Amino acid sequence: MQRPYPRCLLSALAQIGQCLLILLAWGYWASAQEGEEVEAVDDQSQAVAIVRVQPGDTLSEIADRYASSIAAIQEANGLRSDRIFPGDYLTVPFFPPAPPRQAPPGLTVYTMRVGDTLWGIRQRYGVTEEDLVGWNPDLPSLDRIPAGTTINILPVRGVLHTVEADQDFFSVASQYGVDPAELARANHIENPFQILPGDQLLIPRVRPTAKLQELQQVRAQEQEELRRRLELARRQAAERERRRAQELARQRREIANRNLMTPGGFAWPLSGKLTSGFGRRRIWINGSNFHTGIDIAKPAGTPIRAAQAGLVTFAGWDRSGYGYLTKVDHGSGFETYYAHQSRLAVVVGQRISRGDIIGYVGSTGFSSGPHLHFEIRVNGQPYNPRDYLP
Ligand SMILES: [Zn+2]
Repeated sequence: MQRPYPRCLLSALAQIGQCLLILLAWGYWASAQEGEEVEAVDDQSQAVAIVRVQPGDTLSEIADRYASSIAAIQEANGLRSDRIFPGDYLTVPFFPPAPPRQAPPGLTVYTMRVGDTLWGIRQRYGVTEEDLVGWNPDLPSLDRIPAGTTINILPVRGVLHTVEADQDFFSVASQYGVDPAELARANHIENPFQILPGDQLLIPRVRPTAKLQELQQVRAQEQEELRRRLELARRQAAERERRRAQELARQRREIANRNLMTPGGFAWPLSGKLTSGFGRRRIWINGSNFHTGIDIAKPAGTPIRAAQAGLVTFAGWDRSGYGYLTKVDHGSGFETYYAHQSRLAVVVGQRISRGDIIGYVGSTGFSSGPHLHFEIRVNGQPYNPRDYLP
């Protein structure tokens, strides 16, 4: 028997619709993040959730969570036992709660999906936060609403009230102080006596002020908590960065030191009695009590030898108190100073080897007797030469 043409077309359209739904579900599944639960909900009575199994989940828990059944899940996924494994994706067929017998005219129920926000809902329906709170008195938060939560949208402002077990139409009207006639009109009710517990009534012109304030307080607390956690994370990151920089600087110093502490590193410029060490001392010389080098006493005219190979960058009279001074650059920021000499033996620009004579002990500049004042500087900063000498 040949079917009438329009019926065939309708059937084809329905099949296309089903295909689109499957594609939609696939799209959600494919874009799922690790460990995220995704849902694709049909607008019809039957809905499907695609659930990623988390460690510890059991089939019966998942069935309970979605008001589904173990058998339905097994059938939908071709499972022969109730064994499931973390990371598996399960198709969970379930039936969304039946709409109330009596609901205000124009009620739209939207099911929140992964990634949905109340802000997005407000944009989509052109409604205010207060509107949404009025229509959804059980809203847990203004900002964090789990996927699967249903959101009521109405064409009229007011508070949506679910009639409680011990209530009837008239007690609801008196609870909110509204005229029963107006309440009946707003909800298109012809016979108020037919209103039963579980039915929903829109209370017109009542504003959900207390609930809104409560949710705004929750939001303020959540934002404060978030701010506190961000600040803590920022401080921890700064502290980590500080420690990392400190460790890097320490490693750089260690490498620089190691390079110069090797047998090829610094040698004593001459041997003799150490008469003054590096660092703070009791006497003030030239306006400072910080001794930037070490003093080695030796008779005038004793040869001074280069502590390491390098380039002579200064050889002459220094007016700040060093007297006849030689400076040698060793690269990597290292320099040596040889002060109070009686006579210089090198010139600026001369390349010298370790152990070459660079001058002779004297007592020129601020000096109380013949000695060599010897410095090691790293990037211009004096360091204790004893740390670099054998
Ligand atoms: Zn000195």
